[in-house]
Amino acid sequence: MSAVEATPSRSRKPVEYEVTVAHVRMDTHDTATLFLDFGETRPDYKAGQFINIDPHQFHALGRLSAYLQEQKGRKEPQRSYSLASAPHEPHVAITVKDEEFIPGLTRYPPLLSPFLVHGRLTGARLKVLGFMGPYVLPDDVDQRTDHVVHLVAGSGAVPNFGILKDALHRNLKVRHTLLMSNKTWSDVLYRDELEALERQHPDRVRLVHTLTRELDESRFGANVRKGRVHQSLLEELIPDRATCLVYACGPAITPWDRRKALETRTPATPRFMETVLGHLHALDIDDKRIRRETYG
Ligand SMILES: Cc1cc2nc3c(=O)[nH]c(=O)nc-3n(C[C@H](O)[C@H](O)[C@H](O)COP(=O)(O)OP(=O)(O)OC[C@H]3O[C@@H](n4cnc5c(N)ncnc54)[C@H](O)[C@@H]3O)c2cc1C
Repeated sequence: MSAVEATPSRSRKPVEYEVTVAHVRMDTHDTATLFLDFGETRPDYKAGQFINIDPHQFHALGRLSAYLQEQKGRKEPQRSYSLASAPHEPHVAITVKDEEFIPGLTRYPPLLSPFLVHGRLTGARLKVLGFMGPYVLPDDVDQRTDHVVHLVAGSGAVPNFGILKDALHRNLKVRHTLLMSNKTWSDVLYRDELEALERQHPDRVRLVHTLTRELDESRFGANVRKGRVHQSLLEELIPDRATCLVYACGPAITPWDRRKALETRTPATPRFMETVLGHLHALDIDDKRIRRETYG
C-alpha cells in the first residue's frame, strides 16, 4: 500500500443536513465564502472533504434549471463544494467561485455558483449532503513525511486551506509549502489569513504565489513569481521528492472539453492539473505520493 493510499477511509454514509447560512463574505470580486451553521448538530468531517448542494431546492433557480435540463437532456446533478473550514472552527465554510459565462466559448450559463455567490443568502436555510471525499491527510501523516506540498490554482485553494489550518491546529510536525497559482494578486483567496499563519508558524508554513496576468510589477519578488507553475519552480520548492506528500487541487480538462476534442479531432488544452502532474512526474515524484482533487 502506498504512502497516501493507506489512509483509513471514512466509510460513513453522507447525511443530509439542513443548515443556516450564518454569514456570507465576499473574498474577491467573483468568489464568496458561506459560513454554515449546523445548529445543535456537531458536524463530523475531516479537513479537505466536501459537501454536495442540490440546485433543485432553490425556487429561484427552478426555471433556469428546467431550461438547462431540457437543453442538456438530463437532470441537473448536485454540485460539490470543498470545505474551507477545519473541524475545530465554529462554522463549516465553503468558498464558491461564480463561474463565468463567455458567449461563444462556454456552452451554457452556470446554474448554482452565481446564486450562491450573489444570492444574498445570509439567514437562508439550505440542505447539504455531507461529508465526502478522500482528499484528507493520512491519520499518521507525520510518520510518513515531514513535508506536505500544496499545489493549488484559483478556488483549488479551498480544501488545502482547511487542511493547512487543521494540521497547524493539531500541531502536526509536518512543514507545509503552499504554492498558489492565480491570475492576479486580487484573485488570491485567504491572503490575510494565510499570511497570518505564515507569520505565526514561520518554521512550518511557506507561501509562494505565481501570478499569470498581474500587471503591477511591484507585486513580484521572491515569494510572488510571474507566470505559470513551472517545473523549475517545483524543483526548487520540493528538494525532498522521495519523501514529500503532494496535495494538488485545481481545474482540469472537463468532460465537455474531452467531448469537444473528440468532435473536432484537436487535443484538449491541458489545464492546471494536467500541467502540474506532468511536472511532478517529470521530477520523478511517485504518483503514490500525489493526492489530487479536480474541479473539472
Ligand atoms: C470534489 C469537488 C469539489 C469542488 N469544490 C469547489 C469549491 O470549493 N469551490 C468552487 O467554486 N467550486 C467547487 N467545485 C466545482 C462545483 O462543484 C461546480 O462545478 C461549480 O460551482 C460550477 O457549478 P455551476 O452550477 O455554477 O455551473 P454549471 O452549471 O455546472 O456549469 C459549469 C460549466 O460547465 C459547462 N457545462 C455544464 N453542463 C454542460 C454540458 N452538458 N455540456 C457542455 N458544457 C456544460 C457550462 O457551460 C459552464 O461553463 C468542486 C467540484 C468538485 C467535483
